[in-house]
Amino acid sequence: MSITDHPPMPNLDASEIAKFSALAPDWWDPQGPSRTLHEINPCRVGFITDATSLAGRRVLDVGCGGGILSEALARAGAIVTGVDGSAACIDVARAHAATSGLDIRYAAETVEAHRAAAPYDIVVCMELLEHVPSPADLLAACRAQLGSGGEIFVATLNRTPQAYAAAIVGAEYLLGLLPRGTHDYRSFIRPSELARWLRAAGFDRLHIAGMRYNPFTRQASLTRDPDVNYLVHARVAE
Ligand code: SAH
Repeated sequence: MSITDHPPMPNLDASEIAKFSALAPDWWDPQGPSRTLHEINPCRVGFITDATSLAGRRVLDVGCGGGILSEALARAGAIVTGVDGSAACIDVARAHAATSGLDIRYAAETVEAHRAAAPYDIVVCMELLEHVPSPADLLAACRAQLGSGGEIFVATLNRTPQAYAAAIVGAEYLLGLLPRGTHDYRSFIRPSELARWLRAAGFDRLHIAGMRYNPFTRQASLTRDPDVNYLVHARVAE
């Protein structure tokens, strides 16, 4: 058997999945470990709806967790599918969508393994890239799920001293907003790196915005400075 007979390694870190599976039971507790996801969600959804329309569009939420973003997009009229590497998160997402009366399709699988009947209009991939072994390959797999005219929305953390101070020292150690060890600074991504990977994956017309979370008002807003959290919108290159 030659080396080429081996299936490719999945682009997934089992220790990351275990970390998120442990959080699954409390995912929808607004004061629980996913509290900041709940609190930044309106800002993320606003970034998306400012850029595109959601009504009737087929959306794939990659790394959907317990479905906080998926549910908001479904409420805005999108036809949503969510995939996540954690089966525990997907169980929670399914149960919660049922109690919310929302029709969302969920699958415990990677984006690489996902097989859809038709290409998607929009991929959203938020707070995931900094948790996968190869973010560039993940973006290429997201591109493969889109048809022509497709769009992607990505959110991640910049690799700056400010992000280290806010997302690790502040959020994990001083304020206790996130469990310790949620983030590894070395996995944070500079906007220039993300832009390069998006272009290599076949996207163009990039638009970037910073997102500033205020732990005291518990609200997030868009800013010009992407020095900590930031969002990017891009389109499939024509
Ligand atoms: N996108 C959601 C959840 C972010 S938390 C939100 O922003 O609200 C990151 C999620 O990514 C977790 O649920 C984790 O299980 C999932 N994940 C981590 N690595 C993954 C991978 N390689 N493929 C799919 N999901 C993954």
